[in-house]
Amino acid sequence: MRTIIEPFRIKMTEALPITTRSEREVLLARAFNNVFLLDADHVTIDLLTDSGTGAMSDRQWAALMLGDESYAGSRSWRRFERTVREITGFKHIFPTHQGRAAERILAATRLKKGNVVPNNGHFDTTRANIEYVGAVATDLPSAEARDLHSEKRFKGNMDLARLEQLIEVEGAGNIPFCMLTVTNNTGGGQPVSMENVRSVKDILEKRNIPLIIDACRFAENAFFIKEREQGFADRSLLEIAREMFSFADGATMSAKKDGLANIGGFLACNNDSWADDFRNLLILTEGFPTYGGLAGR
Ligand SMILES: *Cc1c(COP(=O)(O)O)cnc(C)c1O
Repeated sequence: MRTIIEPFRIKMTEALPITTRSEREVLLARAFNNVFLLDADHVTIDLLTDSGTGAMSDRQWAALMLGDESYAGSRSWRRFERTVREITGFKHIFPTHQGRAAERILAATRLKKGNVVPNNGHFDTTRANIEYVGAVATDLPSAEARDLHSEKRFKGNMDLARLEQLIEVEGAGNIPFCMLTVTNNTGGGQPVSMENVRSVKDILEKRNIPLIIDACRFAENAFFIKEREQGFADRSLLEIAREMFSFADGATMSAKKDGLANIGGFLACNNDSWADDFRNLLILTEGFPTYGGLAGR
């Protein structure tokens, strides 16, 4: 239902730090104008990131108290797994403490030195995890992405011709998987069309290269598809998200973005043997498969 106001009431306040202009000038100079070096206590309006900073709902806060801290077979884990499976359809789901932990497990188990991973645009931690194991992270944004003033509707798309060319040059055997970041954060948070996801999958499938979706903002991307792509106006966001994930063999997710949680994430795949590798490394470095480095809440 459409409303002309935000359909929620805010019932909690948090005092903001207020500074004077001259204080801010000193603080910024001391931080070399790098906002990452500022203390939050000195920032009135914080636009650094959406990551883990969203306001949670009364139901989210209430659910924390209903969380089950059991080490194995936790009730809240089952609920999380059920929900992720309902949205993504993936067979194997592993909880991680945030997105980069999922990326690290994916890169460490699937990549070797010299391998190449194409992406419409690697997020910085994704690139770093790939490069850390000696592989090469290659960005293949569409040409429209470079034109900041164009009103093109899906400037987050991957350049299909460049993908074909890269596979031709590198050989499919040197590309253990390809990634698509929806929406493309590094490329200005621009969305990827369903047609592009489908076309990327078509190209990869012929060469047996798995597709992994970096799903941090899958919900926003689904919304853009509904608003802008022909044929999707009457489809629900859940249906659109499911179709998007149906083209993928796995996903990495930071729940700190569209998940609107303060911390959390997951790694998912359909391949049983990949899942064995993911599970073993998860237990070694994150936690048991039912909590993955997170509190049960
Ligand atoms: C934030 C983000 C990540 C990494 O997630 P963290 O939870 O910060 O580790 C990966 N990919 C994209 C597109 C992101 O925005």
